[in-house]
Amino acid sequence: MPKRLVEKLRSFIPGNGKKKARHYQRQEIPRDQHNISRSMISEAAKKVLHRLNKSGYEAYLVGGGVRDILLGGQPKDFDIATNATPEEVHDLFRNSRLIGRRFRIVHVVFGREIIEVTTFRGNARDTSDDLADDEHKTSEHGLLLRDNVYGNQEEDALRRDFTINALYYCIRDFSIIDFANGVQDLNTRQIRLIGDPDTRYREDPVRMLRAIRFAAKLDFEIEPETEAPIRELAPLLTHIPPARLFDEVLKLFSAGHGEATYHLLQQYNLLAPLFPETARALATGEPDTLILQALRNTDARIAQGKSVTPYFLFAAMLWPALQVEWRRRQDNGDPVQPALHGAIGKVIGRQIQATSIPKRFSGPMKEIWELQMRLPRRQGKRAFGTMAHPRFRAAYDFLLVREAAGELEPGLGQWWTSFQQADERKQEKMLSELGAAGPKKRRRKRKPVRKPEQS
Ligand code: ATP
Ligand code: MG
Repeated sequence: MPKRLVEKLRSFIPGNGKKKARHYQRQEIPRDQHNISRSMISEAAKKVLHRLNKSGYEAYLVGGGVRDILLGGQPKDFDIATNATPEEVHDLFRNSRLIGRRFRIVHVVFGREIIEVTTFRGNARDTSDDLADDEHKTSEHGLLLRDNVYGNQEEDALRRDFTINALYYCIRDFSIIDFANGVQDLNTRQIRLIGDPDTRYREDPVRMLRAIRFAAKLDFEIEPETEAPIRELAPLLTHIPPARLFDEVLKLFSAGHGEATYHLLQQYNLLAPLFPETARALATGEPDTLILQALRNTDARIAQGKSVTPYFLFAAMLWPALQVEWRRRQDNGDPVQPALHGAIGKVIGRQIQATSIPKRFSGPMKEIWELQMRLPRRQGKRAFGTMAHPRFRAAYDFLLVREAAGELEPGLGQWWTSFQQADERKQEKMLSELGAAGPKKRRRKRKPVRKPEQS
């Protein structure tokens, strides 16, 4: 349905397809020529739009909210653009808060739903105003440090990242306003930066990740000029604060297309700035089968409406790096356990220079890794102790992923599956059978072992 409708939309655009990029002209698409209806927009977003309009301001739905509905999908959230200043918006909504420094925006909070309201941004480069210069600062790398110059709707559109993200829906007359041929790119399924790609990536290197994310999520192509500078500019991401990159990594892998996203990241040299140690491990020949398997599982979980925990994701993404470091330490003569602890510390220490990992996630991530060594040791009371561990469930899931990835002989995962389902008597029996089979006694090995114990 969306394709046909967008096709229909396209036929209303004058000069469609013949215009060269960057010679944009405002297009207005009336209500009967697009498929956005009010029922697809959340009540909260409609409330904000109506109140802003009634108070005399312009206000439009913009970004993913318009894009995803036009494509026949369900928007993740609704963003609103207005000519009211952040303070004016804040004054209008008791349930709102002013946030951000780089971009000052207002969050209007309705229970669990947050409507993000941004004031139209202008282009400071067009003015010689000193204040504008200060409010629109760039670093030596061309990075936008602040971007709080306000402007009109058209300027706002052209400051946005991709053409498909610069479509505005007006709730007064139900029209769509397209400043950058976004409808055309929706129709031909193209991710296209507005303006000069090199400049736009230098202003904000995260746009490279956003290009990948939307390409994977929407199954769009990144158009050649938008694609061309990415590989070379990918290292600029190292200038982005680790906390912002952590958020971006979560967005990349929690949209349900993690596996496709991962392949694109690799293809565009974007894995290294996000996960430097992982990229290094893979370059030395360490396999990424566990990462792929974990992302496949994650995608399947999201498709079923289940959640994904950041610590599970990071435990998987850093696993190859951990293996390399763990092995290196054992090769240097460290016993298995201290080698693991040392490796965990080192891998996390390096990772948080690229993306932060909040403590509430790094703790459980370490536990998932440490439990991988405990899961094979089940004799006596150990199995019960392991099962009572707060991170048992995640560690068991991780074990299943390792088995599915072919990293371990299958068997242990099934054993734990049965053990969890068994009653007490059956559990005792399973444990005594383990004993009868004669589990290998742990011995202190003088010589370093290459692999952790696996049975
Ligand atoms: P989704 O919410 O589904 O991830 P989105 O397109 O709505 O996708 P948001 O991060 O919510 O993305 O941002 C809302 C809008 O703000 C975008 O559609 C885009 O127009 C603009 N935007 C966001 N980030 C940037 C950026 N780094 N540079 C320029 N414009 C941006
Ligand atoms: Mg959004």
